[in-house]
Amino acid sequence: MLYKRSSQLFAEAEKVIPGGVNSPVRAFKAVGGTPIFVKSAKGAYLYDEDGNRLIDYINSWGPMILGHAYEPVVQAVIEKAKLGTSFGMPTELETQIAALAVSMVPNIDKIRFVNSGTEACMSAVRLARGFTKRDKIIKFAGCYHGHSDSFLIQAGSGAITFGSPNSPGVTAGTAKDTLLAKYNDLQNVAALIEANKNEIAAIIVEPVAGNMGCIPPNKGFLEGLRQLCTDNGILLIFDEVMTGFRLARGGVQELFNVTADIVTFGKVIGGGLPVGAFAARSAIMNYLAPLGPVYQAGTLSGNPLAMAAGLAMLQALDTDRAIFQRLEEKTAYLAAGIDKVLKANTVAFTINSIGSMISVHFDAAPVVDFQTATKGDNEIFKKFFHGLLQEGIYIAPSAYETWFITDALTYEDLDFTIRAIDKVSKTF
Ligand SMILES: *Cc1c(COP(=O)(O)O)cnc(C)c1O
Repeated sequence: MLYKRSSQLFAEAEKVIPGGVNSPVRAFKAVGGTPIFVKSAKGAYLYDEDGNRLIDYINSWGPMILGHAYEPVVQAVIEKAKLGTSFGMPTELETQIAALAVSMVPNIDKIRFVNSGTEACMSAVRLARGFTKRDKIIKFAGCYHGHSDSFLIQAGSGAITFGSPNSPGVTAGTAKDTLLAKYNDLQNVAALIEANKNEIAAIIVEPVAGNMGCIPPNKGFLEGLRQLCTDNGILLIFDEVMTGFRLARGGVQELFNVTADIVTFGKVIGGGLPVGAFAARSAIMNYLAPLGPVYQAGTLSGNPLAMAAGLAMLQALDTDRAIFQRLEEKTAYLAAGIDKVLKANTVAFTINSIGSMISVHFDAAPVVDFQTATKGDNEIFKKFFHGLLQEGIYIAPSAYETWFITDALTYEDLDFTIRAIDKVSKTF
């Protein structure tokens, strides 16, 4: 495949956009080469500026769970746009999507919409601090909660990919209130709580981690966090920006039957438009302005185009009760196929997967936390990434990302992918 036009477009972009991209994960820094410029997408496929067709396993980093340009979402946006694109006044549509979200997710009474996952997590932490009147939070190494200052402490996703999990620009004053724990290690969390008695407002966690590759929680980990929070007056925040409306109708709370105090959303909830949200029971949510003292706002929050897209997406997921089962079966099929060909080619690897999330790590040892996630062989990953690209398959240009399975992928696409992985892994 040729990427002539993409290379030219990238050179032009670099002159006026730092690194040529508006989000670092889109750059090919970790794998070499230049990013591919996309022209359009439909269903499971991307079409780039050179006319190549690629099977897409990134899906805009999560939102496109039903495939690209999903007709009901596209129609909803077109129809809404004709009626005006922003008002800064309440609309009925906001109540409709809020009511649907509250009905789908366990244990929440109210939800507030924002414009990104970052904003959702940042606001959730402020709310938790205001509600508990405490300053500190616990986050886990390798978990990513957006790029707000308090979270850029051993952050996952692009932050690890580019070797800056602790970003310059975050002040020491901010950093001291973020305590760092090891994912899947309850004892470590208990010790941090003990050392900071009555000072911790919240524990924020990706209840299924997806930003250091996919790492499901060990048995008892989420239940243990719940208990520690309850015992110590700490609020448990499930960051479901990636997992919400993806792993189950009600997200990880439903899947693992563990209750969080505040839940954050993004990605799928916006149907591909810029949307985030955070939700909780009324007692907590009523702490927000204008009812309560914790301030949080947004000129474009609840934007009609974004809400129309999100509502159409949630309605589709709410109506089609077999979807999560179908996605899980496709993921399991892909995982089994990859497992078979990598074993046959004597590659050292670990596959983690759950629901519609899957990641391949090039190390034989189990990948259960940040430290084990960094053990993967990046030289092999680079060959894997570029090899698949040549075969017309687009995975994230970083070993620390999860692939997303969409409903639009066919079993032919999955078989094609497995054959390509067989071919590429012979070249390692
Ligand atoms: C993507 C992501 C975020 C950040 O969302 P943005 O919309 O990129 O700001 C936060 N938390 C998790 C778990 C994510 O996967």
